[in-house]
Amino acid sequence: MERIVVKFGGSSVADGKQIAKVAAIVAADRRRRIVVVSAPGKRREEERKLTDLLYLCHDMAALGTSIAEPFAEIYGRFALIADQLGLSPALLDQLDSFRGELEQGCGRDYAASRGEYFSARMIASYLGGEFVDPADHITILPGGRIDEDSYRALGERLGDPERLYVMAGFYGSDPAGRVVTFSRGGSDISGAIAARAAGAVLYENWTDTSGILMADPRLVKNPRPIEEISFREIREMAYMGASVFHDEAIVPVREKGIPIRIRNTNRPEEPGTLITPQLSPASLGETEIAGIAGRRGFVMLCLEKSLLSKEKGFLHRLLGIFEEHGVGCEQCPSSIDSISVLVEACRLDGLEEVLCEEIRRRLRPDSLVVERDLALIAVVGEGMVRTIGIAAKIFAALHKAAVNVRVINQGASEMNIIVGVAGEDYARAVGALYAAFVAEG
Ligand code: ASP
Repeated sequence: MERIVVKFGGSSVADGKQIAKVAAIVAADRRRRIVVVSAPGKRREEERKLTDLLYLCHDMAALGTSIAEPFAEIYGRFALIADQLGLSPALLDQLDSFRGELEQGCGRDYAASRGEYFSARMIASYLGGEFVDPADHITILPGGRIDEDSYRALGERLGDPERLYVMAGFYGSDPAGRVVTFSRGGSDISGAIAARAAGAVLYENWTDTSGILMADPRLVKNPRPIEEISFREIREMAYMGASVFHDEAIVPVREKGIPIRIRNTNRPEEPGTLITPQLSPASLGETEIAGIAGRRGFVMLCLEKSLLSKEKGFLHRLLGIFEEHGVGCEQCPSSIDSISVLVEACRLDGLEEVLCEEIRRRLRPDSLVVERDLALIAVVGEGMVRTIGIAAKIFAALHKAAVNVRVINQGASEMNIIVGVAGEDYARAVGALYAAFVAEG
């Protein structure tokens, strides 16, 4: 039988009412046999996320401070869910022993992973499914890569197509068997691993928005949801700041061509966004672009040196300086006698002086200027390669909005055009681009 992996994010499992929606969604399609869950998320804006509380408990315990207050909140959240779902209070006993583990100094990742662990235990019991502990099957190698054998091991564990499985998201174990987590929001990755391991026909990712939007709703009023987007486009969008889906989660399913659908637990009737290996001809023709994404908080180091382009290995030496200090670079726009290096401001923390000093000493530029608070905006779309005039449209829109473009970069894949603007112009620039490409067509 064909199977669908369904992953539910924190807001979809925040309380008993939400979990009842999960049950209805699972029941609505018999192919939904593998459920992957996050830890309970926030019910209200001002509430703390369970994972954040777990990190807090761990850090407080490490300092020898009492964890009574944050732990009571964790316990309270799970006790309420158990009560709302009519589950046996025996599940809560395990929470007491977990408190002891925290107080005795358990690992930080282990502490954080218990949000997903208890969430999955409870939801498995409520749905009448079999609990799957990813620590027994998913091996995360140093650096975050998945050991290939995990797919076989997990595939075997999820082997019975008739059975309903509920797996905890967000963690696995290292080769020594210790629990390790993915980066934040990593349950998306767990869902993708399960989809690949089980040979699923579809990976449904249920969240609290009706798919991926064409632009950030904090910057653009009611942006249109994207109906269909390719794996390559979504990688660009996610990397450039569009949240909703973890950018690393695409990798396991992309290799097997398993499509992903992002859907809204609170509006299951809406189709959401389909992320597919190959865009359908209809959707290719529909809009010139897939979406607009961007991020603030970049710093640009601009070097000028006459006859720079004739100096062999200049770029190599320049980037080498960043590498020696462990600073990753985002982009390197250049012209005949100048090169700029764009870096995320947070990576430069405390290192800016040292780097500039080294660059001056070793490369002897005529000038070196540091520009702060830059934003990068990517206009993304596979259709761009066949469309003449996209760049003209971008610059006309930015010109009309009186936004000064500081840098431009178009990847050879023609999947996107990236422009760098001053941070203060960021929102205006995104608004202008959205208006030009979507609102006005
Ligand atoms: N609970 C984890 C987090 O808050 C992982 C997830 O929800 O995907 O980051």
